[in-house]
Amino acid sequence: MSTTDPSAEQYLYDLADGDASMRPLLGGKGANVAEMMRLGVPVPDGFTVSTAASIAAMRTGGDWPDGLWDDTLAALQRLEERTGRALGSAQRPLLVSVRSGAVVSMPGMMDTILNLGVSDETVEALGAEADNPRFAWDSYRRFIQMYGEVVEEVPAYAYEDALSAMKRKRGMEHDTELSIEDLQALVEQFKEVSREHMGEELPEDPRDQLRRSIDAVFRSWKNPRAGVYRKAHGIPDDLGTAVNVMQMVFGNRGQTSATGVCFTRNPSTGAKELYGEFLVDAQGEDVVAGIRTPRDLAEMQEVLPEAFEELVDTMRRLEEHYGDMQDIEFTVEEGTLYLLQTRSGKRTAPAAFKIARDMVAEDVLTREQALRRIEPAQLDQLLHPAIDPEHDQTPVTKGLNASPGAAVGEVVFDAETAEQRGKAGDAVVLVRWETAPDDIAGVIVAQGVLTAHGGMTSHAAVVARGMGKPCVAGASGIKIDASAKQLSIGDHVLGEGDMITLDGSTGEVYVGALDLVPPQVNEDFEAVVGWADEVRRLGVRANADTGEDAAKAREFGAQGIGLCRTEHMFMAPDRLPAVRAMILAGDETERAAALEEILPMQQEDFAAIFTAMSGLPVTIRLLDPPLHEFLPDLVEQSLLVQRLELQGGEEAELRRERTLLAQVKKHTEMNPMLGTRGVRLALLYPEIARMQVRAIARAAFAVQDDGAEAVVEIMVPLVGYAEELRRMREVVEETLAEEFEAAGKDFPYTVGTMVELPRAALVADQIAEHADFFSFGTNDLTQTGIGISRDDAEGSFLAAYVDSDIVPANPFASIDVDGVGRLVQLGAQRGRSTKPDLKLGVCGEHGGDPASIGFFESIGLDYVSCSPYRVPIARFAAARAVLDAAEA
Ligand code: ADP
Ligand code: MG
Ligand code: MG
Repeated sequence: MSTTDPSAEQYLYDLADGDASMRPLLGGKGANVAEMMRLGVPVPDGFTVSTAASIAAMRTGGDWPDGLWDDTLAALQRLEERTGRALGSAQRPLLVSVRSGAVVSMPGMMDTILNLGVSDETVEALGAEADNPRFAWDSYRRFIQMYGEVVEEVPAYAYEDALSAMKRKRGMEHDTELSIEDLQALVEQFKEVSREHMGEELPEDPRDQLRRSIDAVFRSWKNPRAGVYRKAHGIPDDLGTAVNVMQMVFGNRGQTSATGVCFTRNPSTGAKELYGEFLVDAQGEDVVAGIRTPRDLAEMQEVLPEAFEELVDTMRRLEEHYGDMQDIEFTVEEGTLYLLQTRSGKRTAPAAFKIARDMVAEDVLTREQALRRIEPAQLDQLLHPAIDPEHDQTPVTKGLNASPGAAVGEVVFDAETAEQRGKAGDAVVLVRWETAPDDIAGVIVAQGVLTAHGGMTSHAAVVARGMGKPCVAGASGIKIDASAKQLSIGDHVLGEGDMITLDGSTGEVYVGALDLVPPQVNEDFEAVVGWADEVRRLGVRANADTGEDAAKAREFGAQGIGLCRTEHMFMAPDRLPAVRAMILAGDETERAAALEEILPMQQEDFAAIFTAMSGLPVTIRLLDPPLHEFLPDLVEQSLLVQRLELQGGEEAELRRERTLLAQVKKHTEMNPMLGTRGVRLALLYPEIARMQVRAIARAAFAVQDDGAEAVVEIMVPLVGYAEELRRMREVVEETLAEEFEAAGKDFPYTVGTMVELPRAALVADQIAEHADFFSFGTNDLTQTGIGISRDDAEGSFLAAYVDSDIVPANPFASIDVDGVGRLVQLGAQRGRSTKPDLKLGVCGEHGGDPASIGFFESIGLDYVSCSPYRVPIARFAAARAVLDAAEA
């Protein structure tokens, strides 16, 4: 995107003066229509009110900047001259659309008004000129409906009710069947409805309407659904929108007219094939809004052969020109094709990978360009679970496979409930007759979406694909009674809260919850991520605590283990008794005995991981959590003792539980997160660390004997003082020396530390004296650096902070670059000032977050480590970070 400051630019541009590079100023829609005009693709003429104007209006709280209206009138006059028509003319009326057009596409989130310029004065001329009065009246009723809704905020149902009543009265299903007289009567009714809701007449002067419409589109930038969409997609709130005013072309001028939407490839699978929908005798919104079920684009070849050929040819040209799959809106007016919009199409992850790979094979894109076409966050989608193919359930119905992936959840019937329950952590599936853009907040948190109506290009489908949500659309076999909260599928009746399973890849719907299996990556994915490996500089490791996870991680391309937590090994039910015995030991001998029991189990765990990661580094973190985590809960243990006392139970049992209670009390801390844990614990009970190091050494020898190679890195958690690490290193080295001596052989190893306390980052130069590597524990560093406890924050104020933009994003999901990020940078610099070859990594969830990875690349860390399933995302994001940096 160009760096021009839109606010310094002019307010009005004729389409003929724009091009694709002017996107920040003209918005995506305006810039691309201008580009099409430049290429000689047929588009209606018009002009664009730039984002500079909308930003200026936003800054004054809505007032138009000086000159904006005059400039608009001048641009209108130029358009009138070029078209030989005039707005409001009773001879040759000009009709226009007033279209929103943000810099980053937000499909369906903002508003558009069509047919502006039709009025009591112009409707006759419009009909006469087209020799089709019915069309003129249809356009008139559509105009009032859209204008009233968008500009004057008349509720949509008010018009819909009148329209439905009319169809019912006439016994008709579709509005195309209404006669001229019906439409004339509707126009009167719509005016009446508008008057009732507005408390005044609709404005009659089309210039007045134009001004208000442009203003309404400015305002629609701030409507709630657009806000929710921006938040979900990380789009800044201050970009503003452009407004495009374009001459109307009419798809509703009878049987040789049509309107449609198409993609240059299948956005669901990526296949290079005809993909789209159209409707004869209809206007744009009809197709996407699912009012009538649209027809498959292939059928257009028979209905409108010439326009079809031209469309197919134009699709090819546009895709080649942009080097990307295009999402196109078109209209055919009496046989003549017009393009109304083209943009890079939203696509599913499998489609994104296939398209990238195919376009490289077709020589349309270079590998690096192709890598840029895929959104790192989109990889998430591919890594979604699928329905276990082994299941024996029969689908109860089938709809369109609008967005792939499996969704299991409880049925909810409205977006608001979906939002509430989803935010509370429940898995819900939103079931709607058809989703409206206002449902966006519910769609975001739902596991998936099921609609009874609407095609592959409906709002539900487009939005779901963009977010990687499974969606089954247009499942006409289902009946929804939203007010009774009832979903009927054949003989099955489901209420709110009943479980349902969707397969967005096949369109199949199941009653109940089916089992899911982990995702399988395919060849396209492997190929593209392989290109990423050629580009990236950062290493990618995984966090894994078991041999199984380590093997999975390796399969996904991990170059080692960046964090192996040893506490999970302690938590296993069969080990917990030994661990407790160790904690409760009265003296060193007792403790030593308990540790002897744990050692072989740990050794076995380590051996499995070393084997899976043979030849690649494995960073093992010594025990980190406070001991109370291995003990019963204080309240529960107190209650147990009380109960035993009351019941007067067995003396020995009572004694045992009382001792345990005393220990629980002893280990209870006010702030365990900041208490006796990590290196502090290890220094208090060095025998625990010694046992762990012995287990590591013996495991390494054992796998060596089996022909595998253990690359051992021992990591000390929660270090704040150099002296802590110096002493722990001594313990580790002594223990290893003993083991090496006993075995009569050795292996190379390194000792390093977590940097997860601000103090550690600040004195990293001192700590580095004793470390071979640092691993930034950014989860804890975020907690300690910002001073927030994650468990307490995320459920309460932090969510509110994110919602009200006090913080740009949840700092646990995406690193707080300005604060915590600076601590990481400082720690890295100071550490390397002591030891230039100090190896630097990150473990913690940020290691798998694309935005954070961009930052870690920029400060020159050596590797990131994340959960096994995020490894491909990290590999990819690391490459993107290099490419983005090169571009900037
Ligand atoms: P959105 O961004 O929600 O798709 P658009 O501005 O693209 O909104 O317009 C909504 C619908 O109206 C689209 O189907 C579009 O093709 C159609 N439309 C917009 N302008 C015109 C026009 N000048 N003539 C005919 N149809 C139009
Ligand atoms: Mg559009
Ligand atoms: Mg930590």
